[in-house]
Amino acid sequence: MDDCLFCKIISGDIKSDKIFENEFVLVFRDINPKAPVHLLVVPKKHIASIMEIEKLGHGEIAEIMGSISRIAKELGLDKDGFRVVTNTGQGAGQSVAHLHFHVLGKRTFHWPPG
Ligand code: AMP
Repeated sequence: MDDCLFCKIISGDIKSDKIFENEFVLVFRDINPKAPVHLLVVPKKHIASIMEIEKLGHGEIAEIMGSISRIAKELGLDKDGFRVVTNTGQGAGQSVAHLHFHVLGKRTFHWPPG
């Protein structure tokens, strides 16, 4: 997608602070962190949101979910708990129309979220 910010990050046209990358997934630090650790986990294939999840293969989905738990463990987020969020649509505050999972950690989180 020519006009997609995260596609440009995936292609390397826009720089990011990469944490992990493989054939299917890129993980990088959010530029405007909302917690001491704030990562974005994105599929390399462009889909707008979780509402298009059927466009990804089972292997890609497993890789996204697997990378979240693997990286959470590597960074020690699992010890005290962490949050995984995918804002979907305007009402939920989605600002980039490329599926991404926020992984937030190293602070206390409240429920329900705002
Ligand atoms: P959302 O608002 O849920 O769609 O999340 C989009 C996220 O992308 C926000 O948390 C932004 O801070 C983040 N973001 C925007 N531009 C960049 C960038 N160039 N590098 C890293 N994160 C970004």
